[in-house]
Amino acid sequence: MDLKLQDKIILIAAASQGIGYGIAEAAAREGARLSLCSRSPEKIEQAAASLKDRYRVDARGYPCDAMDAAAIESWIESSLMDFSGVDGLVVNAGGPPPGSFDKFGDADWTRAFNLTLMSAVRMIRGVLPAMRQQKSGAILTLTSSSIKEPIENLLLSNVFRSGVVSLVKTLSYEIADDGIRINNLVPGRIDTERVQTVDKLNADRKGISVEEQRKQQWSTIPLGRYGSIQDMGNAGVFLLSDAAAYITGATLVVDGGKTRAVF
Ligand code: NAD
Repeated sequence: MDLKLQDKIILIAAASQGIGYGIAEAAAREGARLSLCSRSPEKIEQAAASLKDRYRVDARGYPCDAMDAAAIESWIESSLMDFSGVDGLVVNAGGPPPGSFDKFGDADWTRAFNLTLMSAVRMIRGVLPAMRQQKSGAILTLTSSSIKEPIENLLLSNVFRSGVVSLVKTLSYEIADDGIRINNLVPGRIDTERVQTVDKLNADRKGISVEEQRKQQWSTIPLGRYGSIQDMGNAGVFLLSDAAAYITGATLVVDGGKTRAVF
């Protein structure tokens, strides 16, 4: 299928590694032009340079902390200027810290609100005027399977990611007339550095090998393995492309069947 992403301008947040990078790589494979951001200038430069080299596309890296409103504004403004437009946006960031209700004070709640919900609001607000003007655009948020099955000890993530899904659905009504689609992509156990770190911690805690811990996790997934960043990339570019022209306000779960929810 031709996704028709050749030369489309796509902004992807938190893209130096993991799922953000996976979507960037899939978009580069389709010939898209990419504005990538993450906190470390060196790492994001490296990610952009590697995509540029391997796929011969225009890929540029910008430093931006998703917690920081001014940094988001600057990333989006620079991208709009450097690329002269925007066709797609992928909202992504690291997750809030683990913990249960008694652990968190107001400052923790505010930080998680900024990192997970307000980063989405600010990134979307940044691209909407240009997308409205051209009467087209596709936006994608990345959340977690916790929007369907809250995850134990991840209270802050559970709460604010549900807010992001509500934002996506509500906004899908408001921007449809402008030719803009917005959808939500849910990763479930994608084999990134983050998941590898959690596996190592759990293996040490249980006194078993990392391999054994991973096998235990795989046995809870109907498709019997972790997802790859390529699996996420394939789903991401589909939702960003015209192949998904009739899909908006939707949530697509990429979890090997793990989430036990009907909707
Ligand atoms: P990862 O640690 O492999 O990559 C995270 C990326 O985000 C890196 O590029 C990092 O530099 C960047 N980043 C982190 N905090 C940032 C910030 N404040 N501002 C800008 N960039 C920032 O993680 P991942 O597995 O790719 O996860 C991406 C998101 O998806 C996270 O929010 C994670 O909680 C969520 N998630 C992942 C899984 C999974 O199975 N991997 C499952 C559910 C949810």
